[in-house]
Amino acid sequence: MRFWKTTLEANGKPFAQVSIKCGIYQGDALSPLLFCIGLNPLSQIINKTGYGYRLRNGATISHLLYMDDIQLYAKSERDKYLQRVRQVLRSQLNGKNKSQAINSYALPVIRYPAGIIRWPKEEIQTTDVKTRKLLTMNGGFHPKSSTLRLYASLKEGGRGLVSVRATIRDETCKIHKYIKEKAPTDDVLSECLRQWRTEDEMLEEGPSWEDKPLHGMYHRNITEVADLNKSYQWLERAGLKDSTEALILAAQEQALSTRAIEAQIYHTRQDPRCRLCKEAPETVQHITAGCKMLAGKAYMERHNQLAGIVYRNICAEYGLETPRSKWETPPKVVDNERAKILWDFQIQTDRMVMANQPDIVVVDKEQSKAVVVDVAIPSNGNIRKKEHEKLEKYQGLREKLEKAWKVKGGACVDRSTGGCDPQTGGVATTDPWKNIRHLSPEKCSARNSKDTAQNPQAPWPLVEDPSLESG
Ligand SMILES: [Zn+2]
Repeated sequence: MRFWKTTLEANGKPFAQVSIKCGIYQGDALSPLLFCIGLNPLSQIINKTGYGYRLRNGATISHLLYMDDIQLYAKSERDKYLQRVRQVLRSQLNGKNKSQAINSYALPVIRYPAGIIRWPKEEIQTTDVKTRKLLTMNGGFHPKSSTLRLYASLKEGGRGLVSVRATIRDETCKIHKYIKEKAPTDDVLSECLRQWRTEDEMLEEGPSWEDKPLHGMYHRNITEVADLNKSYQWLERAGLKDSTEALILAAQEQALSTRAIEAQIYHTRQDPRCRLCKEAPETVQHITAGCKMLAGKAYMERHNQLAGIVYRNICAEYGLETPRSKWETPPKVVDNERAKILWDFQIQTDRMVMANQPDIVVVDKEQSKAVVVDVAIPSNGNIRKKEHEKLEKYQGLREKLEKAWKVKGGACVDRSTGGCDPQTGGVATTDPWKNIRHLSPEKCSARNSKDTAQNPQAPWPLVEDPSLESG
């Protein structure tokens, strides 16, 4: 024992040598006692730091001692990430901002150590599942809604959330690329590259939500007849609550538990028919556009609100006074030196025409043009048909107007659930209102984004009442 020595180190530097003059052998009864005397101060220091893992009941565990063993406990990145997600979800932010806050506030916790600390695939998956569960619990994500769409960008019609999986994949790829670049000149990195496990980066891409039979049906429907960018603009601009956003998306994805879905897919019910009219199967399309029990009041109200939004935008465009609230019925005629705008006005013609009371007529005095606007809110499978119907319906009126008022006529059909039209809302022979925002009910969007940029104060109508969409 005369030659036993040990070296004390601090901050990696040796600062003293201690020769061991006495001690005990393994198995000595004094051993545990001495261990306790030695480790007690360390235990107290750790306790004072306040670090540790917090249990649900509020208690914190920082370390456990057993025999000659010490285990330290700390909060993992995953817990910290989820804690931040909860914090964001409790906030008053709107749907889009909540997604952005999770991406820029919670995900960096994962991003920072990603690629350095190895993440088991299962943990990545369960963290994403847990995130979605939290969203659902806060009303921000419908449990039957498309997961893939949640992670698609706003422009593509998704919710713009970034998954833990994508974050880790992204970060790992970047580190791999960096190491590959530097490896030829660095021995450590080249060894690192040699040991790189190829399966790590192979967190493969899944299929897209647009191809799913039910979830992607609406998307495929409107792709054929509408401008997707404009149709999904509401996700970026409307500033809806996350629960409203989730409800609209779930309706588009046929994810709502309507009676038809309950009967045909979940088999929890026998009768798929509508609970109101008891005639057709109760599908989302039926509720939003096909139920005769809703046609009289709910659809009418929705139609009038939409027409009102178009009307107010047109008035603002021509510098006319706009109705103060969206519940106020506009006056039949408003007029200034630039334009005359008729609301739901019966137009007298020398000979009867089939339809003479369109929703809105705009007479642009400066350009001697008149535009007839009629609003239709067809279901997404019915857009083209409705558009043709309307254009045909007002053909007679258009000819009369051209003769009687000596103006060039144009017709404009505004339509709804189905997204925005690629060019004009119909066949406007002339398009004097480049700046008029083209609307659809679940959303509202500018005819082209340039106009909006010039006019950021545009009175975007908000869909505040989700019953409007489903009603
Ligand atoms: Zn019905």
